Amino acid sequence: MTHPAKDPRIKYDPYWWEAAPRPDLPVPDLPAKAEVAVVGSGYAGLACALRLARAGRQVVVFDAEAAGWGASSRNQGQIGAVFKRSFKQMVDTYGREKTFAIYRDGQRAVAFVKDLIREEGIDCHLEANGRLVLAYTPEHYDTLGRELEVLRKEVGYEADMVPRAEQRNEIGTDFYYGAQLRHADASVHGALFHQGLLDRAVQAGATVAPHTPVTGIHRQDSGFVIETPRGRVAADEVVIATNGYTGSVTPDLRRRVLSMGAYIIATEPLPEETIRAINPNRRVCSDTRKLIYGIRVAPDQPRMIFGGRPAMTETDPKKTAPLLYEKMTQIFPQLDGVGITHAWTGFVAFTFRFLPSIGKRDGMHYVLGCSGTGVAAHTWLGDRIAGRILGANDTETAYDDIPFETRPFYNGNTWFLSAVVRWYRYKDRMAHRPAA
Ligand SMILES: Cc1cc2nc3c(=O)[nH]c(=O)nc-3n(C[C@H](O)[C@H](O)[C@H](O)COP(=O)(O)OP(=O)(O)OC[C@H]3O[C@@H](n4cnc5c(N)ncnc54)[C@H](O)[C@@H]3O)c2cc1C
Repeated sequence: MTHPAKDPRIKYDPYWWEAAPRPDLPVPDLPAKAEVAVVGSGYAGLACALRLARAGRQVVVFDAEAAGWGASSRNQGQIGAVFKRSFKQMVDTYGREKTFAIYRDGQRAVAFVKDLIREEGIDCHLEANGRLVLAYTPEHYDTLGRELEVLRKEVGYEADMVPRAEQRNEIGTDFYYGAQLRHADASVHGALFHQGLLDRAVQAGATVAPHTPVTGIHRQDSGFVIETPRGRVAADEVVIATNGYTGSVTPDLRRRVLSMGAYIIATEPLPEETIRAINPNRRVCSDTRKLIYGIRVAPDQPRMIFGGRPAMTETDPKKTAPLLYEKMTQIFPQLDGVGITHAWTGFVAFTFRFLPSIGKRDGMHYVLGCSGTGVAAHTWLGDRIAGRILGANDTETAYDDIPFETRPFYNGNTWFLSAVVRWYRYKDRMAHRPAA
């Protein structure tokens, strides 16, 4: 029998593109001059363009591919602020007050994106059902509990601990050792959210130029010249919003981000009672492993969406689908045998600080390095950049003074990634004890 994750009928495009195919926008004539040129048409670029266009600025958004072709139409649609560094590591590095500010900004980003979707009336299956942070070890559960006491007091964190004895009320597995339930987190259909942002940016007057790679950016007078195979555009301001797809056109930024593939599978539609047993409250879930796995139910059909980083090096989703299947059925043995219909990949970017970075380098604004949770963070930060260009006074963030570092000899080629992934995998394997 064919392995369900090797079925020849599997589509290797995002499941989300079924409901929101990549938009077939006409490729516009490029203007000779724009006030703002935005490189990248994901959440960050479009949130920026939307605010600028509404304020009457002439904006051109470039994408090398179809609009939203990058991570913004490929992600799991989990809205939250899941930091890759632990609370303690952040306190050790930045001190308590700065760490609280970073957590507060995580919450601001989540609130911003939920408000934006509601105020704009974007039809993208926003479900405000909270997140389970699933403890991979008993020690992780204890740490989550201790941190929560501080975060509740200091930043008004809204969460509760779910002990292992009650875990089955929340999630149909004994694989984990309890969870932290974060009430503010939510989920969307990421590609429909992107489509909604795109529609509104275009309606507001932004020019979106798909299939128009930016091949050069040069200083000219007090502004810039953007080069593309379809012509040049002079711009007063430039915003780089290329995240995991940041390339050689911005070499100084490229050497500050670590691009890494993330992989997802979608199951066939499952019986409603299976979904109710697995995730009765339709929470988004992430676990506390070093190599995090993300779990959710699709909002439009009763399918399991399961994602993570199962491979050492970047590879084909054909190869990662069986690996993800194995991980999924390790957590949910009851899913063994269910079919897989879609498997896909996309790139995210990390910074060396494992926090998103926002700022200005060589005169260009940038929002880069989502470090995993850019649905909320990059939408919010894209809007902040627009605010900065407009001279608004609501644009500060906790990330502003965190250095956007690189490392000696690093040029954006993540040749060392397989060693890092191998090390994280080893640490995860050593940490976990099979549940009794
Ligand atoms: C599989 C996967 C699952 C994820 N799950 C989640 C999740 O559940 N929750 C969450 O918060 N985050 C998640 N993320 C991360 C999230 O999707 C990203 O942080 C977010 O979409 C980044 O948006 P962005 O606009 O910064 O970049 P992107 O959406 O990646 O857009 C960058 C764009 O830049 C374009 N580009 C690059 N170079 C050029 C150039 N020279 N000229 C023109 N265009 C160029 C690319 O074509 C691309 O379309 C996930 C990511 C992936 C890949």
